[in-house]
Parts: sequence; C-alpha cells; structure tokens
Amino acid sequence: MMPELPDVEVFRRDVHKAVKKKIDRITILDRRILRDVSDRTVRKKLEGTRFAGTDRIGKFLFLPTEGSTAAVVHFGMSGYPAWFDKKEDPPRYARVVLTLEGKKNLAFCWKRMLGRFSLADSIDSYRSKQHLGPDAMTLDKKAFREALSSSHKPVKALLMDQSTISGLGNIYADEVLFQSGIHPATPSDSLSQKEAQKMFTTMHRVIETSVRHRANPDELPESYLIRHRSEGASCPKCGGTVKKRRFSGRSSYFCPKCQKKQE
Ligand SMILES: [Zn+2]
Repeated sequence: MMPELPDVEVFRRDVHKAVKKKIDRITILDRRILRDVSDRTVRKKLEGTRFAGTDRIGKFLFLPTEGSTAAVVHFGMSGYPAWFDKKEDPPRYARVVLTLEGKKNLAFCWKRMLGRFSLADSIDSYRSKQHLGPDAMTLDKKAFREALSSSHKPVKALLMDQSTISGLGNIYADEVLFQSGIHPATPSDSLSQKEAQKMFTTMHRVIETSVRHRANPDELPESYLIRHRSEGASCPKCGGTVKKRRFSGRSSYFCPKCQKKQE
C-alpha cells in the first residue's frame, strides 16, 4: 500500500530512536534513490553528526541534524524504514543505510524506485521549494474551509492536492469522503460550511485512528471503507454496493447511497 500521512507518521515514530545518536556511517546501496544530491555530499553532511529530532509534513519525513542540514525521505509508492542488527546483512530493498553509534543500523527501503532520499538546508526551505501545503493535522479549520470554498475542483482532487493540504493520498481521501457522506466528484466550493466542518473533524479522526492502529488497514474499524475497497463489496454503513470509478485519474471507491452526488 502506498504510504500516506498515517503510514509516514508511524515511520517517523519508529525512526525517532535514531535521534541524538552519532551517525558513524552512511552507505548508499543504490544511488538512484538520491535526489539532487551526490552520495559523497550525503556522507559528508551526515556522517559524524547527529539527528536533532524528527519531523513530518504530509508524506515527507524530515531528520534535521544538529548542524545546518536535514535529511529528507519520501517513501513514494513502496518505501519504509527498517532497523536491523548486522551491517553486512541489510534488509531486502535497502537503498540507504545509516550505521549509528552502538552498532544499530537503520535502513530506508524502497521496493520500487519511486521515492527519494535527499538533503535540505532546512525544513522550511524544502517546504517552500516543493510547494508543500500545510500538513493535514496542523492545518486549521478556517484554512481548510477557505481552501474548499476557493476551489471549484472536485473535492477528492483538492484533498489530494499536496500544495493545498499535505498528507492525504488516494486511500485516505476516499475514507474521509466516505465517512463524511460526500461524493468524490462534488465541486469543493459547493460544499456548505457545515459539510466542510464535518469533513475537517472526520479527517482528523480518521488520521488519528489510523496512526493508533499503526496504519494497518486490517486493524482499522470494520466500519471503515478501507476494509471494503473492492468493487461490489457491501457498504459497511448501509449494506449497499461499493462502486469504483475513476475521478481525476485515480480509482475512487465510494458508496453511491451514502455519498450522493451534488452539483
Ligand atoms: Zn452506503
């Protein structure tokens, strides 16, 4: 499953153990995952330093060092971090390996090369260069309502537009819309204040619930659409039939009974 905000938040918490530990060595096992930086620069900037903390904006993980640089990880379609013991025995798909003091190894793995490991001068500079909108969990209610009312885009496309709201991808955008009872193709600016309000609260609840279950779809409540993402499945709310349609180039799952189309 493609990592979205809840997955990356779980990854961030897993990686947090690396904070304050000296980075003894960086091994780049596959340079293709590096973006706009050479393996030499990565080693030069990170080896011998320590991470000061961890941060996340949407689907991006940041590891700012105690110096003036931050490692940036984007998990793309298939990435994940993994701790392992023996340096000579990294996990399958490990592309970047950090050996920390105490001989702990942290690998960043990508099955497919659709992700990136990069460096930034600061989180803020990276955010503005990448035109990343505020994280879905820190965006305030008023900004959310304004984003909706000032766009005529289908609401699903808006929820997934990382320059407006960072963090939601195809699966969680569908979940938020399902639980809010809103059809994915509804023009954003046609939603009422009340609907926008409900969607905002739902978005927070869905994300928090998912993080609590380590973003494992099989452990999410049975009432979640995520448990029923197949064409013809029964809607967990009304017993109707879950439909699959393409909107804005992505497959959307929704219940036409619970999520009525609005113009
Ligand atoms: Zn339904």
